[in-house]
Amino acid sequence: MNRKVKQEVSYQTSIQPGIVSNVEYSVKRQIFFCYGHRLRDYAGPCKNLHGHNGKIEIELSSKRLDRKGMVVDFIDVGRTIKTWVDKTLDHKLLLRQDDPLISVLKEQGEPFFIMEQNPTAEHIAQLIFEYAASQGLPVVSVTLWETEHAAATYKNS
Ligand SMILES: [Zn+2]
Repeated sequence: MNRKVKQEVSYQTSIQPGIVSNVEYSVKRQIFFCYGHRLRDYAGPCKNLHGHNGKIEIELSSKRLDRKGMVVDFIDVGRTIKTWVDKTLDHKLLLRQDDPLISVLKEQGEPFFIMEQNPTAEHIAQLIFEYAASQGLPVVSVTLWETEHAAATYKNS
């Protein structure tokens, strides 16, 4: 046995599972969707109607794995969150509840999603976080990438 192999064997046998406490597993899943919005009581260009190709990054964590050896099966995250995002937010206008556009869209039979507060990346991340939590997923953070360069995160702290 050469020296290198001997070191590897010695390293492997020195690991004692569970010796490190206060650790956990975490997984991330990305979901893509398109949305339109505008911000009210805001002076910048986002006061105008415009759209984004948004990227949601959802992080879930647990100190223990399930019988499959997973925090959460990615398939279940997709089934729960992506299905809801596709149905509720994708290709919709996200508008604050007092936006006068809502009555126009209603009249025209156009789809929209009403938010209590301004539909900023922060509030959209919070909305998705709260939905994930309501479905019993061990969500710790949701980040919404509004562009390639700008993201907002809502997380458990
Ligand atoms: Zn925007």
